Amino acid sequence: MRPPTNQRTQRRTRRERDDKTPRKKRTCRFCDAKEVYIDYKDEKRLQRFVTEQGKIIPKRITGTCARHQRQLVQAIKRARHLALLPFMSDAIR
Ligand SMILES: [Zn+2]
Repeated sequence: MRPPTNQRTQRRTRRERDDKTPRKKRTCRFCDAKEVYIDYKDEKRLQRFVTEQGKIIPKRITGTCARHQRQLVQAIKRARHLALLPFMSDAIR
């Protein structure tokens, strides 16, 4: 007979952080800089918000607010179109 309670669900029910995971500061970089518009030509800046594979990093990791994340995604897509950023990394083939 299997025990009625699933161990995994039991562990994840409460919002507890294990000390092992490093806590990231949840501040929006663009709000801090009082940025109104994210420049799509600034690929150095945009590069920090994409992975090595060229994927856009979700805001839950970078801490970017919803408004700026939307602008950022638009900027990254524009930059890709202008070949400033890769759609996909060269490393993966
Ligand atoms: Zn923001």
